[in-house]
Amino acid sequence: MLETKKLPRMKVVDARRQESIGKTVRICGWVRTRRDSKGGFSFLEINDGSTIKNIQVLADSALPNYASEILTLGIGGSVEVVGDIVPSPGAGQATEIKAATVRIFGTADATQYPLQKKGTSFEFLRSIAHLRPRTNTFGAVARVRNEICRSIHHFYQSRGFLYVHTPIITASDCEGAGEMFRVTTLDLMNLPRKDETGSAIDFEKDFFGKATNLTVSGQLEGECFATALTDIYTFGPTFRAENSNTTRHLAEFWMIEPEMAFCDLEGNMDIAEEFLKTLFSDVLNNCSQDMEFFAERIDSTVIETLSAIVKSKFVRLSYTEAIKILESSGERFEFPVSWGIDLQSEHERYLTEKKFKCPVILTDYPADIKAFYMRLSDDGRTVRAMDVLVPKIGEIIGGSQREERLDILESRMKAQQLNPADYWWYLDLRRYGTVPHAGFGLGLERTVQFVTGMGNIRDVIPFPRTPGSADF
Ligand code: ATP
Ligand code: MN
Repeated sequence: MLETKKLPRMKVVDARRQESIGKTVRICGWVRTRRDSKGGFSFLEINDGSTIKNIQVLADSALPNYASEILTLGIGGSVEVVGDIVPSPGAGQATEIKAATVRIFGTADATQYPLQKKGTSFEFLRSIAHLRPRTNTFGAVARVRNEICRSIHHFYQSRGFLYVHTPIITASDCEGAGEMFRVTTLDLMNLPRKDETGSAIDFEKDFFGKATNLTVSGQLEGECFATALTDIYTFGPTFRAENSNTTRHLAEFWMIEPEMAFCDLEGNMDIAEEFLKTLFSDVLNNCSQDMEFFAERIDSTVIETLSAIVKSKFVRLSYTEAIKILESSGERFEFPVSWGIDLQSEHERYLTEKKFKCPVILTDYPADIKAFYMRLSDDGRTVRAMDVLVPKIGEIIGGSQREERLDILESRMKAQQLNPADYWWYLDLRRYGTVPHAGFGLGLERTVQFVTGMGNIRDVIPFPRTPGSADF
């Protein structure tokens, strides 16, 4: 056994390559199946997560632990195999391993192990989120998610954007709206009050000397760096305590937020479109086997949809034009359409799935339904906002050109019942050397969901946090 340690461990993905034939290798992984042949040998299918495909291992009955150990191996058992890579006569694989030794790290009792061969529901798998990475689907999701993250960094790094880390604990609310998680060390059983009778909590006694929350967006802090370093992006966890039990909302998710100085809404849309197309084509090129799996098992259209988008030109359309289209669509919407409404998922889906059948960038929303920092247009009633909508998911990106004029920004804040004094540092960016600038936020999980065709956002993040659920 000891001398086998001298061989470097080869990943299954590499052991499956034609070029590896003739090499003596050591692989480690988990058994997916065992088949015994009457001819006096067994086939083990081994997977180590480096690819969706398994490597087939031929274990001869002449192996010293054949009867005592190998014949007890079932799904979930963990092994180390040393042997020669030989051409495989089997279909669907170029190579297999003829085992010289099979060492067992651990077995998995078939009467107890929850991941038996039969397809299990995603709902059930959520209750065993600690084991679901071992399934084909969640392995594929993890590899695609990883590729998207790699591609995100590469996209911005290759364009000279700086990766900036914005705080997770913050005292400001980016949107000026509620729905945040409070961060506190106060004793919840014995809260300090501002005065004897008053009910107001005295947050001066809290850890930071003020009320703090988990961030809903890194944008405002990101703007501080964009207005000094020009092109930046943030990429980190984001938290929203909104009680929306949908297939597209998480309480904890990851967001990518580029922010560009000397950039207007058109430049912002150009970057967003190029960004999404790059992510999609990188996944198609670098995760082709996983994508074939998703096309076969999850959504037969994913590969054609992504390929078409990579070559397409996104439709760009104003909110006002979109409202006209929706009003004259003849569709029966649950939420009636009129100028001024916040678009619902059903409206977004009509535009992307029925009307245009491609991603749509909607711009110039009513000022009243958008955040204070979006740039007010000359019409005085719309702001230079943009949402990128995709089929099935709806909004995947939300962004805008930012208001760079101090006086207008202050009056927009007041109109939304925000106190400009609370945002003094944000206003300073306009007070000193203000510049036109723009940015957006892309939800990582919505992107993974769209790319893989997975129906529920809870199945594209390792350990989902949603109302009533924060297990593992
Ligand atoms: P929605 O209207 O879909 O709830 P939003 O308008 O609140 O989204 P933004 O504040 O614009 O979202 O955030 C930017 C991006 O972050 C969204 O386009 C989306 O991709 C993602 N996102 C927002 N909220 C969530 C959430 N709760 N879970 C997962 N992703 C989210
Ligand atoms: Mn939005």
